[in-house]
Amino acid sequence: MTVFLLGHSFRYEIENIVRLFFPFSHFSYLTEGSPEGDYILTEIGEGKARVTVSFQGKEETGNRPLSLSPGKGEQEMTLCRLLFSLLEDMTGIHPAWGVITGVRPVKLLTSRIQQGQSREEVGKEFSKEWMANQEKIDLCLETMDAQQPVIQSVKPLGYSLYISIPYCPTRCSYCSFVSQATALKKNRDGIPAYAEHLVKEIYFTAEIARKNGLSLQSVYMGGGTPTAVSPDILRSITDAIKEAFPLSDAIEYTIEAGRADTVTKEMLSVIRQSGATRISINPQTFRDDVLKRIGRQHTAAQVEEAFFLAREMGFSSINMDLIAGLPGDDFDGFCQSLERAIRLDPENITVHALTVKRGADLYTNGEYPMDPTVFQRMVQQAYLRLRQAGYFPYYLYRQKNTPGNLENVGYAKPGQINYYNIVMMEELQTVLGVGANAVTKLVGKNGIHRIYNFKYPDEYFSRFSDILAKKKEIDNFYGEEAKKYGK
Ligand code: SF4
Repeated sequence: MTVFLLGHSFRYEIENIVRLFFPFSHFSYLTEGSPEGDYILTEIGEGKARVTVSFQGKEETGNRPLSLSPGKGEQEMTLCRLLFSLLEDMTGIHPAWGVITGVRPVKLLTSRIQQGQSREEVGKEFSKEWMANQEKIDLCLETMDAQQPVIQSVKPLGYSLYISIPYCPTRCSYCSFVSQATALKKNRDGIPAYAEHLVKEIYFTAEIARKNGLSLQSVYMGGGTPTAVSPDILRSITDAIKEAFPLSDAIEYTIEAGRADTVTKEMLSVIRQSGATRISINPQTFRDDVLKRIGRQHTAAQVEEAFFLAREMGFSSINMDLIAGLPGDDFDGFCQSLERAIRLDPENITVHALTVKRGADLYTNGEYPMDPTVFQRMVQQAYLRLRQAGYFPYYLYRQKNTPGNLENVGYAKPGQINYYNIVMMEELQTVLGVGANAVTKLVGKNGIHRIYNFKYPDEYFSRFSDILAKKKEIDNFYGEEAKKYGK
């Protein structure tokens, strides 16, 4: 299909709207030429915005007047709203977030409240200007409310520590991370050297944090799957963290034990001894056929066994991830997975909307056509059922290229929200990242500064001195902060 952009330069915004309705189609964008066949024409001129959509033999045109001297914002929003309405009419699809694309909805809503608008006013703006449906407005308001205690507890020089373990037993078909499959010997053989370098970076980073007077508030070990390495390797890493960082100051310490096939008694003992207070055991789905199709080597029964074992060993804060929209799954299958997760009664359930990015096998195979309406119903059902089951949303984020622009939401039982997820997603405090693919995000009154570690373990070893050198930017950042604000 061809999209014409006439008299304006809002390609990015128009593209975002078009993708809501046609997530798997390819479009060409032209600024001139004669429309024919299926096409979308967007135009600004003669004091109005005009859109024509010609699709499967149907054609509709809409016009909206612009003010006498419209700014870019007015032109863009008028055109986007008009296009959105026409596409809703013609496709019968009603994307729940309306035209809120490319921004973090909770951040947008919170900033409006901080500027003095009431909840009702913001609700009206979300519904009228941004065309979001009421359910998403409620979701944003509830999420914002749930985050307040965490926002209050963020210390001015507080920080979180993120440790990256970029290994997994196998690679999931939807994965676009750098994770290395330990099923391959060459990857397994690199793990001891990876751990050795990681331990050095842990001590180095702890020293920088101490020198700059930073105060540890949370620790999160993710990846990858941290439990994909051997218990001895994991212990060498957790021992270093324990020795280098003042763990007793932290509000929480999470270790992802994502894959059920990596959760053994010995592994859980290492985690217990590490001081971690929270783990993740992620089913993604409870359908064995879907698990197989996405390249995971465990069954749903193994997930339940891992969960019960963790409970027996005293883990009282467990998160479970589910994914809506997996290939081979359908609405009923997703609902059954949701019910099985609820029956297990974990403290947190996180529901992801599947995003297929370049680099994922699913993308390469072109294996992923799911009806966006079904996808939207899955996410909606998760919200309704989890609310009924006593969970509430406490963080949400959206990723580019998710069909329907749908959200990932962390739900928690009362008193069980995860501090790290909120501060990281909402960029409320500094995160010091260690390991391959980790990002250090420095948050201060001067703004945000990011330091990227090399992505792949091989590069991480071979250019390790560069990584340590880049960490000096932390000193510079906090030096500048102190100068500017007289700390
Ligand atoms: S568990 Fe996560 S990081 Fe590992 S392969 Fe699957 S999607 Fe990628």
